[in-house]
Amino acid sequence: MTLTFNDNLLPTLPIMEDLPVDRIIGITSTIPIEIVFAAGYIPIDLNNIFVCDPSSYKMVEDAESAGLPRNTCAWIKGIYSATRKYHIKKVLSVIQGDCSNNQALMEIFQSEGIETIPFAYPHSKTDKKFLQDQLERLADSLEVDYSKAEEMKGRLDAVRAKIHEIDRLTWVENTVTGEENHIWTVSTSDLMGDYTVFEERAVRFLKLVREREPVQHALRIGVVGIPPICEDLYAFLSSVGAHVVFNEIQRQFSMPYSTRTLVDQYSEYTYPYDIFSRLEDIQQGIKQRNIKGLIHYVQSFCHRHIHDRLIRKNVQLPILTLDCDRPGRLDGAMKTRIEAFIEMLR
Ligand code: SF4
Repeated sequence: MTLTFNDNLLPTLPIMEDLPVDRIIGITSTIPIEIVFAAGYIPIDLNNIFVCDPSSYKMVEDAESAGLPRNTCAWIKGIYSATRKYHIKKVLSVIQGDCSNNQALMEIFQSEGIETIPFAYPHSKTDKKFLQDQLERLADSLEVDYSKAEEMKGRLDAVRAKIHEIDRLTWVENTVTGEENHIWTVSTSDLMGDYTVFEERAVRFLKLVREREPVQHALRIGVVGIPPICEDLYAFLSSVGAHVVFNEIQRQFSMPYSTRTLVDQYSEYTYPYDIFSRLEDIQQGIKQRNIKGLIHYVQSFCHRHIHDRLIRKNVQLPILTLDCDRPGRLDGAMKTRIEAFIEMLR
């Protein structure tokens, strides 16, 4: 397969047309990719393929033309269009621990002849028996020995360690920008389908960063919530003098904990579980990284918007809740709100 990177050595998408379509497994959220890689498949995060597509806005409209409701989250519509556009034949979908929209989307795929593979996180992160059972079922359905997936974890831990170093450089040395941090960490959901090339590029990026001067912005902020769909949020934050030193969910995709087994790893991963373990992680991030304010990114029509109340209740910092619907650039009203928030933090 071909994996390309831009001049700054940030990861960019694989060229989909070059991939053997029979080996691709589209994923709709972060899942145990160790099992997918161990089985010889190429995991491709459909969210990334959609949001980086130059016609991402149109892909949302195409999904609406195909009958998906206007008042459904744009990520769901983008996943649908990306799957159709690249003739993906297998989709591995999280049916518990993400959202019911994904579950309904899976049924749409089934009705259109696309093979779907369900994966469910347990309701509680402490239910390790349920999680173990799901991991083994997934390995069975992809016809791979479970022990091979555990071996793959060791290999991917080494790759992810490079991304943890990129994250550390963002908030300790201040030599990695918030946007670079976002791109590297969000890309760990599928390691762009090729962990060897991904690792090589991460090593090259780390070398490049060592020669850099630190970011000069004094104001340190965090972005919590699902990864933003708008393309210029980080660039705009940087232009108004804010250094994003914490990308909550993207960091979670990189599995930032030291764990021995897949069950331990996917129990520590906070995203599929209740808000309370996320809150602990956010609180720790704020303290450790000396964060002065948060942007809580919420996706229009997403149930996770309800968490805003709990985040505000539990986090004693100024918070700007930013709601966005479709891919594209920030509009004038959003920019004004962000500018006013950053000014207030100063
Ligand atoms: S943003 Fe919300 S509604 Fe949309 S796919 Fe993610 S969890 Fe589901």
